Order: sequence, then structure tokens, then C-alpha cells
Amino acid sequence: MCDCFTKLGDDMESRIKAKLPEGASLRSSGWKQSGLFMSGGVMSVNYFIEYNASYQEVKKDGTPKARLTKQDFPVTFSFCPFCGVKCERN
Ligand SMILES: [Zn+2]
Repeated sequence: MCDCFTKLGDDMESRIKAKLPEGASLRSSGWKQSGLFMSGGVMSVNYFIEYNASYQEVKKDGTPKARLTKQDFPVTFSFCPFCGVKCERN
């Protein structure tokens, strides 16, 4: 795979540092939607977007629960969204 996420991440960090208020220091930064995925017995870092759903469950007595249940589903990229190179699956 390409290194677009790494390069862009470095670029973003530089831009953010330049815009911080006087005297402030950056403590952490990074892609919010990245994570470790297990595939074929190998752990790798993948980037993803999230598909969101909310649904209403029913209680044991058959009446609907008052609160909706919200859930995010990660969808990994098949191709780099920046340069179009195919993302390899380890
Ligand atoms: Zn790329």
C-alpha cells in the first residue's frame, strides 16, 4: 500500500502546530478512524469510514424500548481515497 495516510498525517500535524494558540503544545493527533484489523491470522492497521445505523429494539413484553440503539459499522477502503492505489489485505 501507499503511504498517503502517513504523509497526510505528518502534514496535518505540521499545519495544526502552526495554528495552535501562543504557548500551546500539541499532545496528540492522528487519524480518528484507523484501527487494528485481524485478517488471515495477521494483524494490520487499516483506515476506514463508518456507516451509522440506529434502531429501536423491543422489550421482552413486546413494547418498543424508549431509546434508540446507535451503532457504527467500519467499512475499510479497497483503494486509497487519495491516490487510488489498491489497498493490500495482509
Ligand atoms: Zn495513497
